[in-house]
Amino acid sequence: MAAKIIDGKALSKKLREQIKKDAEALKSKGINPSLSVIIVGEDPASKTYVKNKRLACEEVGIKSDVYELPESTTSEELLSLVEKLNADESVHGILVQLPLPGHLDEKVVIENIRIDKDVDAFHPQNVGRIMIGDFDFLPCTPAGVMEIIDEAGVEVKGKECVVVGRSNIVGKPQAMLLLHRHGTVTICHSRTKDLKEVTRRAEILVAAVGKAKMITADMVRPGAVVIDVGMNRDENGKLCGDVDFENVKEVASVITPVPGGVGPLTITMLLKNTIKAAELRLSGKA
Ligand code: NDP
Repeated sequence: MAAKIIDGKALSKKLREQIKKDAEALKSKGINPSLSVIIVGEDPASKTYVKNKRLACEEVGIKSDVYELPESTTSEELLSLVEKLNADESVHGILVQLPLPGHLDEKVVIENIRIDKDVDAFHPQNVGRIMIGDFDFLPCTPAGVMEIIDEAGVEVKGKECVVVGRSNIVGKPQAMLLLHRHGTVTICHSRTKDLKEVTRRAEILVAAVGKAKMITADMVRPGAVVIDVGMNRDENGKLCGDVDFENVKEVASVITPVPGGVGPLTITMLLKNTIKAAELRLSGKA
């Protein structure tokens, strides 16, 4: 039987309706939730992401300010803007669009964002809090994956979970979130010896690699829940995931498509974190 295909757009729409209500509730208490996004340079993909973030904010009633800085921006200039936004009480979330041009040190920039405004949850202190399970902000993409798992009605507790990819922004935090839900989690990477042997054990398989259609049907345990984080171009230039969707959907019980799966949820989780940042301010915790 073919897998249930999760519609990330529809789920995202549902979640954004709640976020809109949360934004209205904050406004009625005198807090106007706001996100500041900084982009440096002219990278077209980054520009598209920033535009989508701005539109998503508009959709749910979050105020957004986009700071477009030239490629030639110095580290001092960028850090001074971050500092200004850190100090501005009307700003709840700050996001610096990555990647930054090569002459700017991303690590230093992220470490300078106030932790209670770090809505991407990339600051080492927030990363550490995710590790110990005591966090305010969830990392956006892994949080979106968890929303999908919940939407599919899948219980993680006791399940064999395999995450392929160990990046700081997806693979590692994803593994942590599954672990917090009591999954038995294995993380695979480029040095994993027999990937297929490991992925075939997965009842929940998350692919976050960045290699078009690398997870083939023979690598998937029948009935598995397969979540595809990858965003790649296939041989015809068409957007595709890390999973060979057409064939894997015949083996899996639940699957996410690309596009229209995890992607739409990532920005929705950013909106959720911005609301959370504004709520922290309201409660006096920020
Ligand atoms: P990275 O390039 O940072 O990490 C890729 C990971 O995959 C690494 O840990 C790497 O291992 C591992 N890997 C590479 N080749 C193999 C292999 N042959 N077998 C097993 N593991 C392998 O990527 P990201 O985590 O940033 O992103 C992953 C994918 O998710 C990309 O396609 C990206 O575009 C997409 N993405 C999608 C988002 C969304 O909103 N839908 C958001 C963020 C990312 P090693 O560590 O050993 O090098």
